[in-house]
Amino acid sequence: MNRARKFCTVIFSLVFIVAFNPPLPVSAADGTTVVYVTKTGEKYHSEGCKYLKKSKIEKSLEDAVAEGYEPCSKCSPPEL
Ligand SMILES: [Zn+2]
Repeated sequence: MNRARKFCTVIFSLVFIVAFNPPLPVSAADGTTVVYVTKTGEKYHSEGCKYLKKSKIEKSLEDAVAEGYEPCSKCSPPEL
């Protein structure tokens, strides 16, 4: 009984930790957030988006926004 309760506490703690620590956006070593744009598109994307199959140009999030790119609606990249 006591053991089962302990087990439940551990599981609950793990779920709590996962729920409140979503994976952080991919960041370069200098701390800037990296996103990707395409040659012809007007959106910026996060790594692995299907729209990056044709072309994939790495940019910092700040640069992408400054250059007028908007976040992709499919891959929900980080926003400033
Ligand atoms: Zn995308």
